[in-house]
Amino acid sequence: MLYQRSSALFKEAQEVIPGGVNSPVRAFKGVGGTPIFAKSAKGAYVYDEDGNRFIDYINSWGPMLLGHAFPPVVDAVIDKAKAGTSFGMPTALETEIAELAVSMVPNIDKIRFVNSGTEACMSAIRLARGFTGRDKIIKFSGCYHGHSDSFLIAAGSGASTFGTPNSPGVTQGTAKDTLLADYNNLEHVGQIIEANKNEIAAIIIEPVAGNMGCIPPGGGFLEGLRDLCDANNMLLIFDEVMTGFRLAKGGAQELFAINADIVCFGKVIGGGLPVGAFAARNEIMNHLAPLGPVYQAGTLSGNPLAMAAGLAMLKSIDADKELFNRLEEKTKYLHKGIETILNDSEIAFTINRIGSMISVHFHEGEVLDFKTAANGNNETFKRFFHSMLNQGIYIAPSAFETWFITDALSYEDIDETIKAVSEFAKS
Ligand SMILES: *Cc1c(COP(=O)(O)O)cnc(C)c1O
Repeated sequence: MLYQRSSALFKEAQEVIPGGVNSPVRAFKGVGGTPIFAKSAKGAYVYDEDGNRFIDYINSWGPMLLGHAFPPVVDAVIDKAKAGTSFGMPTALETEIAELAVSMVPNIDKIRFVNSGTEACMSAIRLARGFTGRDKIIKFSGCYHGHSDSFLIAAGSGASTFGTPNSPGVTQGTAKDTLLADYNNLEHVGQIIEANKNEIAAIIIEPVAGNMGCIPPGGGFLEGLRDLCDANNMLLIFDEVMTGFRLAKGGAQELFAINADIVCFGKVIGGGLPVGAFAARNEIMNHLAPLGPVYQAGTLSGNPLAMAAGLAMLKSIDADKELFNRLEEKTKYLHKGIETILNDSEIAFTINRIGSMISVHFHEGEVLDFKTAANGNNETFKRFFHSMLNQGIYIAPSAFETWFITDALSYEDIDETIKAVSEFAKS
């Protein structure tokens, strides 16, 4: 495959955009080479500026659950655009999508729309702090909750519980209020709570981790967090930016039958437009301005184009009783196909899968937290990535990303993907 036009466009972009991209992981730094520039996409495929076609397993990093340029979403956006693109006034559309979201997701009474997953998570912890009157939060190593200061914290060492910032510009003052725990390690969470009695407002977690590859919660882990929160008057925040409307209509809360206190959304909820949201029961949501003292706002929040796209998306998901079964079956088929091929090779691997999230870790043995995810062989991943790309299969340019299966993907597409894995294994 040739990437001449992408290369030229990347050079040009680097002159005026830092690193040539508006979000770092797009730059291919983790895998080397030149990012491909997208020109258009339809269904399961994305087409680049050189005219290459790829079967897309990134799907805009999650939103395109039903495929690219999904007609109900496209039609809704075009239709709305003609009636004005922003008013800064409430619209009937916002209530309509809020009512639908509240009906689909368990355990929430009210929802507030924002413009990104980052904003949703940032607002959720402010609300949790305002509600509990406490400053500290627990987050898990390897979980991503957007790029706001409180979340850009990595462990100084495995034993350290006080966070140190992993980006310049995040102050020590902010970092000290983020406590880091190991995913799937309840005992560690318990120790952190003991050491910070009555100071912790909330635990925030990806109920299925998707930003260190796919890592499902172990048996009893989420239940244990729920119990710890109840026993210590802390809130449990599910960051469902990735899992919301993807693992089930009601997200991870429904799938695992566990109630969170605040739930964050993004990605699928916007149908490919910039949308995020956070939601909770009345007693918590009523603390938010203008009802309560916790401030949160947005000029373009609830934007009509974004709400029209999100509403069309949620309606389609809500109406399709077989959707989540189909997604799971396709993902399972892909899993079995890749597993069979890699089992016949010398390559060490572990595949994690849940619903329509799957990842291939090039590492033998269980992958259940950031430490085990980081053990993966990145050289193998780089070779795998470029081999797949050159065979027309677009996976995320990072070993720490989940593949997102879309309903638009056909079994022929999956067979083609499995064949590409077999070519890679042969080489
Ligand atoms: C993508 C993601 C975010 C951030 O959302 P943006 O829309 O990129 O700001 C937050 N949390 C999780 C779990 C995510 O996957």
